[in-house]
Amino acid sequence: MMSKADTSRKTKAQIELELASVEAELRDLRDRGPIASAVQQQMSETLHSLQVHQEELNTQNEQLRLTQISLEQTSQKYHDLFENSPAGYFIIDTNYSVQEVNVAGMEMLGRTKGRILAKPFLLFVDKSCRRTLDEHFLQVRNGSARTELWLLPEQRPPFPVILQSVPLGSSWGESWRCLTTAFDITDRKAAEQALFESETRFRAIFEQNPMAVQIVDANGVPRMSNRAWTRLWGRNPSQGGGIVPQALEMSRHLEQARNGQSIDIPAVRIPAQGRDIPERWVHAHIYPIQSSEGSDDTVPEIVVVHEEITERKRIEIDLKERTERLQRQYNNLRALSEIAALPGGFGAGQQLAAALNLGRRHLGLTIGQITRIEEGGSTIEHHSAPPEAGIVDGTRIDLSETFCAQVIETGNVLALPDLATSPYADHPSHRLHGVGSYLGAPIRQRGRDYGTIAFYSAQASARGFDEGDIEFMRLLSRLVGSVLEQDENRRDLAQSNAELEQFAYVASHDLRQPLRQVSSYVSLLQRRYGEHLDDTAREFIAFAHDGAVRMDRLIVDLLEYSRIGRNTKPVEPVELSQVVADASANLSASLAESGGTIEVTPPLPTVRGDSTDLVRLFQNLIGNAIKYRAPDRPPLIRISSVSTTTEHHISVSDNGIGIESDYFETIFRIFQRLHTPDKYEGTGIGLAICKKVVEQHQGRIWVESNPGQGTTFTIALPNRP
Ligand code: ADP
Repeated sequence: MMSKADTSRKTKAQIELELASVEAELRDLRDRGPIASAVQQQMSETLHSLQVHQEELNTQNEQLRLTQISLEQTSQKYHDLFENSPAGYFIIDTNYSVQEVNVAGMEMLGRTKGRILAKPFLLFVDKSCRRTLDEHFLQVRNGSARTELWLLPEQRPPFPVILQSVPLGSSWGESWRCLTTAFDITDRKAAEQALFESETRFRAIFEQNPMAVQIVDANGVPRMSNRAWTRLWGRNPSQGGGIVPQALEMSRHLEQARNGQSIDIPAVRIPAQGRDIPERWVHAHIYPIQSSEGSDDTVPEIVVVHEEITERKRIEIDLKERTERLQRQYNNLRALSEIAALPGGFGAGQQLAAALNLGRRHLGLTIGQITRIEEGGSTIEHHSAPPEAGIVDGTRIDLSETFCAQVIETGNVLALPDLATSPYADHPSHRLHGVGSYLGAPIRQRGRDYGTIAFYSAQASARGFDEGDIEFMRLLSRLVGSVLEQDENRRDLAQSNAELEQFAYVASHDLRQPLRQVSSYVSLLQRRYGEHLDDTAREFIAFAHDGAVRMDRLIVDLLEYSRIGRNTKPVEPVELSQVVADASANLSASLAESGGTIEVTPPLPTVRGDSTDLVRLFQNLIGNAIKYRAPDRPPLIRISSVSTTTEHHISVSDNGIGIESDYFETIFRIFQRLHTPDKYEGTGIGLAICKKVVEQHQGRIWVESNPGQGTTFTIALPNRP
């Protein structure tokens, strides 16, 4: 009997053949009858066993068939994979020729399979990559290799691929082979190129930007700085050099930038760093770089841009200083002109005090002083200083202890903003009197050297003295010179006026005596010999008498004129309403006779002055208004006043005959008349007296008139308590 193992090794046909022979044997045995029953038994068992085997074989056959189908399917799948892969597959043999290629590989090379197979792969790469390919294949000998190179398709420009090769197992044949896969990386290369270009562009913009740019991380730690930044701030602050941006209060701004805000700071001052690095100014922009991808709001980086504006700022500051200086100059010129315009009546003392005060304020110096130089010494004539300086006008000082001599000698302004560092550091004024800064100018009066005007302080001048200050001193010294000159002139004039008035008074007083003699002898002649004389002689005597009377009146008027201001009465407050009332009362008879009226519009001010002279002033004006009335209407005289902070204007207007404008000036001169005595009586001295009284009170008088309609005289008197 055959073993099961033997059975399994028989083919199906053998088994079927065996089975047929066994069945034939069996039939034969059955025909032989009972003798064969034992064999039959045995045969039947064998038959059964053979049938079992056949079943098993059938099953095995089926399994084999299924395995084969699955194998074919897998093979197809791999084939499809190989053929349809988007990557190019090449099987390369030991000579580096192509043994197999897939569709993608053919497409990549732009050639049919026939023009690729059995050709060296070297033919299909760009010439420049041949060495790289050699190295690639050498590498595959020792394992796998991966290389980037350019394939050269037919009729098309080369394009970049990644070549990846692995050696194939020995089951692929006796000789060595490898599978080479080519991935087209044109798109990736293009993206890389675009990235490279954008990076290059960014670099160029960043590096060549004239503004200083630094990129810091969210904590303010610098990541990169451009050249302009390094130029501006030296080495990168993180490397311990340059100016640390903390000076820009970075932390506060970083916080804002972290919150996504852009900050613009128009001017940031970076203080000087020792002697070498001066103060600088920058215009700063700080802004976050927002990541455009994703919804993540975190700020990975912050850009700090500095535009240096030191020069602009310097010009701005310079301009501001200049403007301030100009403003100061302007203020001083204004003040100078105000001092110059102070009415003479205030006296030189007040003008000089104002000038010294102004100078101290302008120059920022403690003491101002006008010193007069005389033989062998100098005297403080005027000063302006705090009381603790202990300066007294009239003090004589030794010339050697002042700068007066130097100033007078050079005839120019001497400016010493810091005596300690000047050539005059040893000068007694510095050593003995502690003068720290000095500015002085010479004063000339009537063409001669008078002395100096000087300002000084114990300290050095904080701002120094510029051209403007020197010019200011020149102007101030000229102003002071002219004030002193005017004062001198005024004194001379007052003296000569006093002499003249004295002369006029004496002359007019003395003239009346012989005149009275002439007039009394003429009266005597008429009385005694009148009846013996003819008419002509009597007429002559009458003329002589009239002349003497008229001359006497002239002399009386002249005396009155010269007496004005000679009053020794002290100046006192005078109510003008009372003055007008007194003047009107004195004129009541002629007013009544003319049928005129006086209308006073109250209130009239109270002024300081001499009441007798003021009554005379208003009496002359009202008297003239009555005298020069229009023939066809009674006189109407209106008196009113308006006041400003500096002056009272009192006007006396009438409805009389009026005055031609040609005579507005002349009528105020002594003995100037517009009419003959036979028409209107008078000596022409009334308005001259008015003018003198007004001027004695530091005032002015003027006239306005419409001939035929009326006249208005206006008196301006100072408004002061
Ligand atoms: P007098 O009155 O003695 O002539 P005044 O000096 O008072 O001298 O006046 C000078 C001249 O001014 C007068 O002669 C007159 O012509 C003119 N005048 C003065 N006041 C008036 C007035 N209110 N209306 C018109 N003319 C006047």
